Amino acid sequence: MRIEIISCLNDNYSYLIIDDSNNSACVVDPSEPEPIINFLENKNIKLKYILNTHHHYDHVGGNKDLKKRYKSIVVGFKGDSKRIPGIDVLLEDNQIWKAENFEAKIMHIPGHTSGHICFHFFKEKLIFTGDTLFSLGCGRIFEGSNEQMFKSLNKIKVLPKETKIYCGHEYTLNNAKFCKKYDFENKDLQKKVDKIEKQLKNGIPTIPSTLKEELECNIFLRANDVKSFSKLRDLKDNF
Ligand code: ZN
Ligand code: FE
Repeated sequence: MRIEIISCLNDNYSYLIIDDSNNSACVVDPSEPEPIINFLENKNIKLKYILNTHHHYDHVGGNKDLKKRYKSIVVGFKGDSKRIPGIDVLLEDNQIWKAENFEAKIMHIPGHTSGHICFHFFKEKLIFTGDTLFSLGCGRIFEGSNEQMFKSLNKIKVLPKETKIYCGHEYTLNNAKFCKKYDFENKDLQKKVDKIEKQLKNGIPTIPSTLKEELECNIFLRANDVKSFSKLRDLKDNF
């Protein structure tokens, strides 16, 4: 399996998970159809599955056109069956979703939205975290509570440290500014910021991050209890 990062809209990332053994792919959170189609047509790859982390338009905007063009199967959380356009396969928490050579564990991680899930490709040690865990940040809480979000992040925290994190947006630099403000003595964070500044200067995405880096540098993952997490989330909402 090979991951291709596709920039969409202003600062969204969609991801193609490509199986080179049969030229097929899944797309995670297609914000819009065109950039995905351009890539697939160029490389002659067939889009078999559309995986959605949650129902927000910047994560499902390409569902209908892509499904129509490739007859792809749309896969999402069962609780969001009314909100995910074109949904075919309804997933449950802790389920293993397996199709052809693709295999991922589904984790229900509410907070940003009530039906948010992530796709953990445990064999490849990759996780698609949507708008729940960002590099150096976490999603805004729209439909849940701080406590739910804190619990959801804790589910991700216990995965193997070398797990690669693929999130829904390029928010890393702005997130870094917030982390630096409230965690200014963190040497690992300094190193990470140097790295991402270099990447962005060269026009390279700061994604994927790794769980190890996030545990060392992401102030929201470093919060030890709901109370301190909530305080950070409030500060960030007004940052
Ligand atoms: Zn969202
Ligand atoms: Fe989003």
